[in-house]
Amino acid sequence: MPKLLIATENHGKVKEFQVLLASLGVELFTPKMLGISLNVVEDGSTYAENAGKKARAHAIASGLISLADDSGLEVDALGGAPGLYSARYSPKAGATDADRRAYLLENLRDKPRPWLAHFHATIAIAVPAGELFFADGNCYGEILPTERGDNGFGYDPLFFIPQKERTMAELSMDEKNQLSHRALAVKNAISIVEKLLILPPQAGK
Ligand code: IMP
Repeated sequence: MPKLLIATENHGKVKEFQVLLASLGVELFTPKMLGISLNVVEDGSTYAENAGKKARAHAIASGLISLADDSGLEVDALGGAPGLYSARYSPKAGATDADRRAYLLENLRDKPRPWLAHFHATIAIAVPAGELFFADGNCYGEILPTERGDNGFGYDPLFFIPQKERTMAELSMDEKNQLSHRALAVKNAISIVEKLLILPPQAGK
């Protein structure tokens, strides 16, 4: 069976990718399963640059086609912040996801609602020779002033999706995987992976 490395150590993302890529008919690996631990510095100025760096470093280290994403939350009232810095958005040392959500609300407190926002994901796929391919996805909604739901990770409890009338953290994994930024980016990435691994296209796609 062809092999694909999911180049992330974020447990929430690994779980989502495993479900999203399950139908592909490839053996999925994580860096941990291969004993790889790369500290890729995400110092790029775009999602594509950061995702590309992660994917390429892992493809070279593992010899496998590797897929990485860089994602973030963009809030209109904050000029697109936290964006690329979503994972580090807190002045507190050792901040948790809960600290970052609290900091986001602190920064939004004086801004008029609705606090329109979207999640963005860019997926990079790298081959061991270093060549890169990209796919993107967005998911639109608004930030709520209080948290709702226990599923997902990161900013999910604050991200309300109007057409579902629930936050991302109130959706099941299956529901999130039908509409999330990462799900849409994966959908766009699948045909690239199929071509690189020379897999037959998925039926009904
Ligand atoms: P990175 O892509 O590893 O740089 O991390 C992006 C950050 O954006 C995560 O640590 C989360 O804070 C946030 N983020 C990305 N995708 C999601 C999501 O699906 N739900 C909630 N937060 C997310």
